Amino acid sequence: MKISEIFNTSDRAIFSFEMFPPKKTSPIESVYGKLEEICALKPDFISVTYGAGGTGAHSRTCEIASKIKNDFGVESVAHLTCVNSTKDEIDSTLADFKAHNIENILALRGDYVEGVEPKKDFIYASDLCEYIKDHSEHSDFDLCGACYPEVHLEAKDEVEDILNLRKKVEAGAEHLISQLFFDNSVFYRFLERAKIAGINVPIEAGIMPVTNKSQIERMVSMCGASLPSKFVKIMQKYDSKPEALRDAGIAYAVEQIVDLLANGVDGIHLYTMNNPYVARKISEAVVSLL
Ligand code: FAD
Repeated sequence: MKISEIFNTSDRAIFSFEMFPPKKTSPIESVYGKLEEICALKPDFISVTYGAGGTGAHSRTCEIASKIKNDFGVESVAHLTCVNSTKDEIDSTLADFKAHNIENILALRGDYVEGVEPKKDFIYASDLCEYIKDHSEHSDFDLCGACYPEVHLEAKDEVEDILNLRKKVEAGAEHLISQLFFDNSVFYRFLERAKIAGINVPIEAGIMPVTNKSQIERMVSMCGASLPSKFVKIMQKYDSKPEALRDAGIAYAVEQIVDLLANGVDGIHLYTMNNPYVARKISEAVVSLL
């Protein structure tokens, strides 16, 4: 089923998850147990990340997205980056996705990788959206796009970033998933900017439950999310108590989600970090509120 159809036919907020394939050095089967447990929570869909390197990165994404959909009966979205791929490579990846019954793509530019020369066929995610929509063999894929409540790190300012986001929607992105954030007021201001810019597609709020300190340090340095003092206090207090930090991280994410749902957001996209325990605890806490 296409994700846009899920949004169009649902009378409640959408609740979806993100998962990632195992590293190349681990067998693909190593994630199957977690996959099964997470799929059993029956989210509206699960998106599967794509390795940053370009060529060859798609096969594990394809395999996991296919398993989620075809074996566990949950709709899936395959992430696809374009900056390190040629048009021919994108054609062959999309053909593979289609052969595996995958209908939904999160169309991304991707990040530049040190030592890898970008291929230059695609500069922005909007180029990938346009390419897919303009080619009849690909045009029936449903497209999602990424968005940044705290502004993409490379953008000059929030006005430029929101106008660029509108280009992505005009190029075919039918639904947006946000970068993680820890301060809901940042997301509400972003929704206002999107509305003013005429962006009318559903926007899901990306929520990452923080369950260990190194995870948060890595995430914040990668995406620049700001940390409210309330959040920093929790991190400091439970820094050396892994179980307490995990539970506090779950509680913080639940509080964020309750507030977002009460404010009528279109959906919540939970970055599960492949952790079935955390995904289950949060699902149980919010399922009756959707
Ligand atoms: P774009 O939308 O192309 O934007 C990139 C920058 O270019 C922005 O500053 C934007 O303002 C600007 N821009 C965009 N369009 C134009 C235009 N037409 N003219 C001028 N400027 C423009 N990375 C991975 O490698 N694998 C993943 O699986 C993955 N999943 C992600 C999932 C989500 C929900 C999010 C939020 C991010 C994900 N990323 C992933 C990270 C993403 O690849 C990076 O954030 C990347 O830097 C930007 O990708 P984008 O698709 O948002 O780029």
